[in-house]
Amino acid sequence: MSRTFDLVVIGAGSGGVRAARMAASYGAKTVIIEEYRVGGTCVIRGCVPKKLFVYASRFSDLFDVAQSFGWQVDARFDWPTLVANKDKEIARLEAAYTAGLEKPGVEIIHDRAVVTGPNSVRIVGTGEVLEAKHILIATGGHPKIPNIPGAELGISSNEAFDLKTLPHSILIEGGGYIAVEFATIFAGLGVHTTIIYRGDCLLRGFDEDMRHGLEAGLQTRGIKLIYQTTIASLKQQGADISVTFSDGVVAPFGAVMFATGRAPNVRGLGLETAGVELTHAGAIKVDKYSQTTTPSIYAVGDVTGRAALTPVAIREGWYFAETVFNNNPLAVDHSLIPTAVFAEPEIGVVGLTEIEAATHGNIDVYVARFRPMINTLSTKSDRMILKLITEADEGKVLGCHILGPGAAEMIQLVALPMAMNATKKDFDRTIALHPSAAEELVTFKAPTYRYRNGVKV
Ligand code: NDP
Repeated sequence: MSRTFDLVVIGAGSGGVRAARMAASYGAKTVIIEEYRVGGTCVIRGCVPKKLFVYASRFSDLFDVAQSFGWQVDARFDWPTLVANKDKEIARLEAAYTAGLEKPGVEIIHDRAVVTGPNSVRIVGTGEVLEAKHILIATGGHPKIPNIPGAELGISSNEAFDLKTLPHSILIEGGGYIAVEFATIFAGLGVHTTIIYRGDCLLRGFDEDMRHGLEAGLQTRGIKLIYQTTIASLKQQGADISVTFSDGVVAPFGAVMFATGRAPNVRGLGLETAGVELTHAGAIKVDKYSQTTTPSIYAVGDVTGRAALTPVAIREGWYFAETVFNNNPLAVDHSLIPTAVFAEPEIGVVGLTEIEAATHGNIDVYVARFRPMINTLSTKSDRMILKLITEADEGKVLGCHILGPGAAEMIQLVALPMAMNATKKDFDRTIALHPSAAEELVTFKAPTYRYRNGVKV
């Protein structure tokens, strides 16, 4: 006889784990099925190990600056030590996630699951069929690899975390978050790093000042940027990979990494059997309550193609549990999501870009550019950028964009007043904290420039 659950969750990543824990805490009989490791992309091979690697890579910048403060540094880097210590931390987090599920009574099944109908799921390994009042799909996404000859010789971010040795050089394809973050990591650890991007400036969709500031910062760190070009093919050449570019140029690299976007994990899940529809981009179609086109089936996180960010998946999982198991319908507001790019320089943004805001009405733009204080004793020429975009005449703050040290931490806090509809006047009432970079945000006097009727004046 098959077992019956109030909730069957497929995928133990950020969204699935949060939903399962909350549902169980509301008394739902819950099982979570995961074919890989508990924690999902973020914990196992995404945000967490990435940030640890970013910390590792930043020491080279700090060692440079240290000399200007009187320090003599003789530093050597050992990649296997970093990978081993990262693995230890990830194992600790996985255990914590597992304990967090077990505490409220969630059953964990380590296997693959297939949806066999609106209210049933089959465990592939054992063949067991589970009956479910509700099913939550939280299967995340996977790296997209271009379909080119020799693509199998390249790696994605999945493999980058566990390379046996650091390559002498790396070519990274893509111009998004993962490309620039990993370029920062590899370059900081001493690898000759090149980014190849099909567009003409990195981070499409970000504010132009952030894009150009990042470009300059990456180049200062020796990262080579090749634009309007793609990788046409890869071929093994001794220990190296010979890369042929779309313009016919051929060059060898120690490693090639694809950071060409991620796609939702929907294949082989049996969604069509249950009538779950996909969007044209191949993600699971959901309404504002994360309900799919099959009423008993919900989906949260990257598999829904809304915003592929951990805190968003967690919030979607939480609100799903509130809606379905606590009689408290809550819809996630996806309109004001702060986000950071942990490159060097770091970027933190929330709200509209200048170009977006200018199409929404009259706006004022305040921009500060300066050398971060930590660099002032050295010859480092990096500039920090803080940019505030507001409705005209000290109105509502519409966007904030920061490039430089501490940008992510700052933007998290700026997101709070913005969520409360703060105005420029509210920022002005706030007393500055000196000396800090963030004080610029509350000491802007006249706008740097304005847009009136869509025209920059
Ligand atoms: P992104 O979508 O950010 O970037 C993908 C890049 O690859 C784009 O520059 C895109 O070009 C390019 N690209 C796509 N297809 C091809 C192709 N066939 N050939 C050549 N280039 C191609 O994806 P990422 O993989 O960097 O990251 C995935 C998502 O994960 C992010 O969007 C983000 O939501 C999340 N993430 C968040 C992080 C954070 O919060 N710090 C860190 C890492 C990931 P084009 O610009 O022309 O489309």
